[in-house]
Amino acid sequence: MLQRPPLIVGNWKMHKTIPEAKELVQQLTRVLGDDLARIPVTVLAPSFTALCAVAQEIKGHPYLLGAQDLYWEDQGAFTGEVSGPMLRDLGCRYVIVGHSERRRYFAETDGMVGKKAAAALRHEMRPIVCIGETWDQRLSGRTEHVLALQLTEALAGIGKDQAQDVVLAYEPVWAIGSGRAATPEQADEAHRYVRTHLLGLWGQDAGGQVPILYGGSVMPENIGELLAIPDVNGALVGGACLDPVLFAKILRIGGVP
Ligand code: PEP
Repeated sequence: MLQRPPLIVGNWKMHKTIPEAKELVQQLTRVLGDDLARIPVTVLAPSFTALCAVAQEIKGHPYLLGAQDLYWEDQGAFTGEVSGPMLRDLGCRYVIVGHSERRRYFAETDGMVGKKAAAALRHEMRPIVCIGETWDQRLSGRTEHVLALQLTEALAGIGKDQAQDVVLAYEPVWAIGSGRAATPEQADEAHRYVRTHLLGLWGQDAGGQVPILYGGSVMPENIGELLAIPDVNGALVGGACLDPVLFAKILRIGGVP
């Protein structure tokens, strides 16, 4: 089992101009006050346009920088895309790949997610590989089957020696932005399944070290019970991370006692 502190990632999605992004970091820091020294490993993932400003703003603070996506080629004629070297250059240490919104609105496949994860690793960033079932898939008893397919393809190009840099995020699609988080029992069951898959793929040592984050309507009210689940090693937070008071509460609960 992984040790505390957990890893908490704030996914800002398509929100915040540059001045707003700076203000959000400042407010979060202000609200946390002395507790800043006790927060968990905390990644802020603003939109591409605010990465540079947020990189400047977090200097001297314990936050780490993450991006919400990347393209798998390093450079070339790929209008509108952003590559691993560009993100690394800005100071990104983490990259979210395969978020369900990317899969749903931009037709990302498991194969594409796999290439993105491999590209992140190639450029010394930790991919946060998102997986999760839809409500229909859960209702029809296909949750584990869906997770297995997503895991198999997304991790196909990643060797055991790279496992230490991989982060998984179990995000049931029906829980994202819905205000209806998975129950602790549902999260426990899914995270155990993901862990078993990782152990099968990379063995006890390597597979056991991969953090598995939970994502989907995480709030101060549920973060404690979710983090108490043995294979929930952190959280991917959407809506609540845009509110400095809510996010600070989440970081306090997840932080070093
Ligand atoms: C997310 O965007 O990954 C997410 C989990 O969003 P929310 O916390 O708003 O459900």
